[in-house]
Amino acid sequence: AKAAGRNTFAIFGEHMDELLRRRRKLEQDLRLALETRSQIEAFYQPVYSAEHHGLSSMEALARWKHPEEGFIAPDIFIPIAEEIGLIHELGAKMLEDACSVMADLPFISMAINASALELGSDGYPLRVLSRLAKWNIDPTRLEIEITESLGFGGEGRSDRNITILRNAGVSIAIDDFGTGYSSFSRMQKLAVDRIKIDKSFIDTVEGGSKPLIEAMINMAQAKGLKITAEGVETDEQRDTLVALGCDSLQGFLISRPLGRAAVIDLYNGTKKQ
Ligand code: C2E
Ligand code: CA
Ligand code: CA
Ligand code: CA
Repeated sequence: AKAAGRNTFAIFGEHMDELLRRRRKLEQDLRLALETRSQIEAFYQPVYSAEHHGLSSMEALARWKHPEEGFIAPDIFIPIAEEIGLIHELGAKMLEDACSVMADLPFISMAINASALELGSDGYPLRVLSRLAKWNIDPTRLEIEITESLGFGGEGRSDRNITILRNAGVSIAIDDFGTGYSSFSRMQKLAVDRIKIDKSFIDTVEGGSKPLIEAMINMAQAKGLKITAEGVETDEQRDTLVALGCDSLQGFLISRPLGRAAVIDLYNGTKKQ
């Protein structure tokens, strides 16, 4: 048993070494990618407006094409960027990409995702607004999606930054709504423009979550907020969610996230129809 234990430990130790090595390498590669402004770019997921019966906005989502590993998912590299202090560079790159698409498609609006670290940092509103000004883009065309992950200690500053951005015309959406334990209380307190109901609820709308979704929609409507359903994959989900009062739908049923050229073609085509 003793020998087996030692072996197990040796294998476990080797495994840890390998994991740490991979992690260090990813950090270095991410640093290089962000410093050289290469490999990482925005993809864009079209958002369907039930109100306008068409595509009127999109969400920018970060994609990292690693030279050896291929595409690495944002769920992997965003937390690393936050940990090594490069999330601000990543956010700036995403906003720059988003602005360049907005400049090419003057009739659409755009959502970007902000890390709680960005939102809670001094000067974030000014950085966003001066980037928009540089591209001559009206701030009302930009929406910033925030999550309610707390624990960064910047809540007061986040709320002040949100106020500054909203006063300048930028919209704020609460992303992954319903997943955080403070969703409802945060929505009551915080002045925002939209909630995005998390995919986990949409997945089960035909199952048990319909009453929950109804409760979210009732509260949001009472506060005058707009409502997006995320991760819509079937016709049935779409029909139910529109009937319940979601004004915007996003998900693979409408489109997967697309590269810059594809999304510009799609929206130009849509406009001509
Ligand atoms: P999110 O903001 O909730 O984005 C929605 C995610 O769901 C995206 O994954 C999107 O590709 C995926 N999705 C959309 N519709 C469907 C669907 O119908 N079915 C399924 N199965 N998935 C769908 P993605 O692009 O992998 O992004 C994951 C998360 O990474 C995002 O979740 C967001 O929290 C974060 N993220 C992505 N880009 C950025 C960024 O530029 N900055 C920050 N801070 N976070 C980002
Ligand atoms: Ca989002
Ligand atoms: Ca989301
Ligand atoms: Ca998410």
